[in-house]
Amino acid sequence: MKIIMLGAPGAGKGTQAKKIAAKYSIPHISTGDIFRANIKNGTELGNKAKGYMDKGLLVPDELTVDLVVDRIGQDDCANGYVLDGFPRTIPQAEALTNALNELGAKIDYAIDVDVPDENIVNRMSGRRACVDCGATYHLKYAPVKTEGVCDTCGGGLILRDDDRPETVQNRLTVYHDQTQPLIEYYDTMGVLKRVDGTIDMQDVFQAIVDILGA
Ligand code: ADP
Ligand code: ADP
Ligand code: ZN
Repeated sequence: MKIIMLGAPGAGKGTQAKKIAAKYSIPHISTGDIFRANIKNGTELGNKAKGYMDKGLLVPDELTVDLVVDRIGQDDCANGYVLDGFPRTIPQAEALTNALNELGAKIDYAIDVDVPDENIVNRMSGRRACVDCGATYHLKYAPVKTEGVCDTCGGGLILRDDDRPETVQNRLTVYHDQTQPLIEYYDTMGVLKRVDGTIDMQDVFQAIVDILGA
């Protein structure tokens, strides 16, 4: 099963993608996580990506597409995967479609997690991310058991620089300009499914399971 998660920054793509990956035993591939890991390790890719990410801009397609095409060609992706945060532009979507075409494959589902802009700043300012394993929490909606400590690995929690309200506004503008057109792209392809992302995260997941099958 090959799945794409669509939706604004903070809509809950990562939260749902992790649950999908666990239930259907497929890898969760987050380009944001890949870039953050590269920044942490001080790689050339990380150094290039950081300037864009800090401003709330997209990393250029040239730095993004090959990375994902390589990743989905690995053995653990043979039974499918859930892509979270890619594609984010029409050229990225076209590159993905072409790469899959060459393998005689296609995306099965593009799930749009729909959350209005008004809710997003609130979501992002409460999001906390683990510095060690990348797990995500929310101060109010997904609290950790012990304050400031990751439930999974015991790492420290931070507010990502790009989750500050000033940057979130830029990211929303970028989302509407460059990423939202993908909804129509995948609708035309006949694989678009929409879910209401404003409800409780367990209920969002149930709506997704209803689409994918139990
Ligand atoms: P969120 O989950 O909040 O939407 P991500 O972790 O997916 O954020 O992405 C963080 C940042 O990484 C983006 O704002 C962007 O700068 C960069 N990024 C992630 N995926 C892509 C992509 N497919 N194309 C370009 N930039 C990307
Ligand atoms: P994205 O990957 O789309 O940027 P995340 O999955 O990281 O979004 O979610 C953004 C923030 O909102 C996180 O702090 C997460 O815990 C929280 N969150 C996710 N889904 C919901 C939901 N349905 N209701 C309330 N908060 C949510
Ligand atoms: Zn952790």
